[in-house]
Amino acid sequence: MVAPAPPPRTVRCLILGAGPAGYTAAVYAARALLNPVLICGLTPGGQLTITTDVENYPGFAEVIQGPWLMDQMREQAQHVGTEVINDIVVAADLSSRPFALTCDSGQTWLAETLIIATGAEAKWLGLESEKKFQGFGVSACATCDGFFYRGKSVVVAGGGNTAVEEALFLTKFAAKVTLVHRRAELRAEKILQERLFANDKIEVIWDHAVDEVLGAEDPLGVTGVRLRHVASGAVRDLACDGLFVAIGHAPASELFKGQLAMDGAGYLDVAAGGASTAIKGVFAAGDVTDHIYRQAVTAAGMGCMAALDAVRLLAEEDHAAAHHPITHAEAEKIGTW
Ligand SMILES: Cc1cc2nc3c(=O)[nH]c(=O)nc-3n(C[C@H](O)[C@H](O)[C@H](O)COP(=O)(O)OP(=O)(O)OC[C@H]3O[C@@H](n4cnc5c(N)ncnc54)[C@H](O)[C@@H]3O)c2cc1C
Repeated sequence: MVAPAPPPRTVRCLILGAGPAGYTAAVYAARALLNPVLICGLTPGGQLTITTDVENYPGFAEVIQGPWLMDQMREQAQHVGTEVINDIVVAADLSSRPFALTCDSGQTWLAETLIIATGAEAKWLGLESEKKFQGFGVSACATCDGFFYRGKSVVVAGGGNTAVEEALFLTKFAAKVTLVHRRAELRAEKILQERLFANDKIEVIWDHAVDEVLGAEDPLGVTGVRLRHVASGAVRDLACDGLFVAIGHAPASELFKGQLAMDGAGYLDVAAGGASTAIKGVFAAGDVTDHIYRQAVTAAGMGCMAALDAVRLLAEEDHAAAHHPITHAEAEKIGTW
């Protein structure tokens, strides 16, 4: 017999996502006594759990590990009073307040305010070997990991703006950057292409796909990539120290299609300089709204903004509710009836 669904729970602030944006929002909401509930989704800790060294999150003189940083964030959020729930939101109804969110477990949450911090996922090539070396020579973020490739040789896979920008950025550190693209021309904007072709550290290999990541076991690390010509199928190995996969990102905004405004790629629209969406009481923060910066610290900053916006809205509403609605006589007096 199927167990009946648990009764809905009402919360003042529900946070979706256990990455830097979600945990930071939780810290601020908890310290404002909103008793927030944070739902983790499939990847508690978010994208930083699939990387190793993090050297650009402020506050740490030493290199720290992504999964460790996310454990610290979770503990901090819980310490100040956040309830962290291991569940996945599978349906959202934002048509009226409180908003109704249903989880995979069957639990429904009724939220006075909602902070969407569901992040984004880097798109990967889908190779077993790529997965094996993630964080050990395979990355999807040049801003994050480029620094570790000083004087080394790296391959960038992709042909759009992201790939070209990543390749150009990597020339600051790497001795050699090889861009591998499946087609005979790039999709990137012309101005980026000009910069790419003018850079003598960059070589482009056309019409090839990365078929496999080659590496060493001890210590685990990338030593090269196997390339396949897309037309002839001919295979060749290229030595390198790292592979940057730059074939795009997918924001986790599917649940909100048709309910919240988003751009063509699915990034949620928020008000300039803030975290409010067009629906009062719904805020968004981090990589799910941001296709430009995509950093842990920017996501954390946006999480803080979203929580402060939610706190302010609830305080205004509480204040308004605490005052009696004006009477007929009062309204007549001030001429608004
Ligand atoms: C390989 C790699 C290395 C990186 N290295 C660095 C670095 O060194 N420094 C740096 O600053 N940045 C780095 N980044 C970028 C950084 O990880 C992201 O910018 C940051 O994690 C974004 O935070 P976020 O909270 O917006 O989302 P995410 O970290 O993407 O977290 C999203 C959260 O939402 C949850 N979620 C999704 N859907 C649902 C749902 N339906 N219900 C409930 N929860 C849901 C997920 O489970 C997850 O917990 C790296 C990224 C990658 C991929």
